[in-house]
Amino acid sequence: MTSPGSLTAAHGAAPLTRLSEDEQLFHDSVLDFARREVGPLVREMDEHAKMPRTLIDQLFELGVMGVEIPDAFGGAGATFFHAVLAVEALARVDASVAVLVDVHNTLCINAFLRWGSEDQKQRYLTRLAAGALGAYALSEAGSGSDAFALTTRAVKQQDDFLLTGRKLWITNANEADVFIVLATIDPSAGHRGITAFVVERSFPGFTVGKKEDKLGIRASSTCELLLEDCHVPRANVLGEVGKGYKVAIETLNEGRIGIGAQMVGLAQGALDATIKYTKERKQFGKAIAEFQGVQFQIARAATEVEAARLLVYNAARLRDAGLPFLKEAAMCKIFSSEVAEHVSSLAVNLYGGYGFVKDYPVEKFFRDAKIGQIYEGTSNLQLQTIAKQILG
Ligand SMILES: Cc1cc2nc3c(=O)[nH]c(=O)nc-3n(C[C@H](O)[C@H](O)[C@H](O)COP(=O)(O)OP(=O)(O)OC[C@H]3O[C@@H](n4cnc5c(N)ncnc54)[C@H](O)[C@@H]3O)c2cc1C
Repeated sequence: MTSPGSLTAAHGAAPLTRLSEDEQLFHDSVLDFARREVGPLVREMDEHAKMPRTLIDQLFELGVMGVEIPDAFGGAGATFFHAVLAVEALARVDASVAVLVDVHNTLCINAFLRWGSEDQKQRYLTRLAAGALGAYALSEAGSGSDAFALTTRAVKQQDDFLLTGRKLWITNANEADVFIVLATIDPSAGHRGITAFVVERSFPGFTVGKKEDKLGIRASSTCELLLEDCHVPRANVLGEVGKGYKVAIETLNEGRIGIGAQMVGLAQGALDATIKYTKERKQFGKAIAEFQGVQFQIARAATEVEAARLLVYNAARLRDAGLPFLKEAAMCKIFSSEVAEHVSSLAVNLYGGYGFVKDYPVEKFFRDAKIGQIYEGTSNLQLQTIAKQILG
């Protein structure tokens, strides 16, 4: 008779949350960095809505800024799953640092890896692995969920394109050097006019505009981009002219797994803090963690975090295996962001009055959690994707 152990071996199915030695080492080193180097800065970064450049440089040194970039271009040559692990570990401490790393890897670099020509990879991946920060600019004031209603215009010239328009809500914009900008070559062509361009901060006609003052992830910069006859060389079209919608859809499909990871990390951070606090805080002569009512709330939260992590890891591992993951990515994002909101809200409740003030970490987890249900496709848009996949 086959034992359960040999069955597992025969099917080659490893437990989802069991990390390989290399994954575990990578995860632990990022978490250690987050606690040691990011932790002491969290309050100040949130208050001043600013991330020190020295911290961004440290992230490059740590090796989390070119996770999937091949060795030949100076990256770590690792997997998408590694990027997900880095985002999760950083978000346990600070969701802003996590999203900076996430957008750089899972949107910007990802788009180059998928769609970049050899020349573009050589020119940009080497820089994106070595200190240049990436951003991804799709949204505009009038086009969010309906992303392909964008109006930023690209007009073909002799050797280049002239881009004119305004992008809104662009993560990393304040610090980024390289922007993937989606524009249309023909507004009457609908999504078939959309084209992806690589735009450098230094290009004439390109300016980073107003920085948003936000509820959460305050240290992550979110800015407007202004393009006024911005000259972009023909060689900087990413993928094909008129196929930018594919670049956008395919990178965002993967990127949202990163947001799922950010939300799982955030929820775990809130849970860690809550477990510690409820064991210390005494009421009615004992630690509040000794009350069964509190224990059950924490047990439920831990269950939710575990379920969210399983969804995220499964989606990421499917992606790395080259298997379909669209439904799973949408599910992991919507579920993880709801879990993050619920668990961070519970954390505020269990801290009592201390949960409501900035001297303790949980009010920030609560504020930071909200964005998970909005960016890289709102929760309703994730439900739309899931429904389409299961209902046909
Ligand atoms: C902090 C932050 C960072 C961001 N970073 C980036 C970035 O780096 N790059 C980038 O390109 N964009 C970025 N965004 C933009 C983000 O992706 C959009 O805000 C998001 O896609 C929602 O678009 P919207 O704000 O226009 O809302 P809308 O699309 O106007 O949606 C408003 C509400 O209507 C609902 N809704 C809309 N259409 C439907 C429908 N068909 N069915 C049911 N409900 C619907 C939505 O779910 C939502 O609840 C960022 C946004 C924020 C706030």
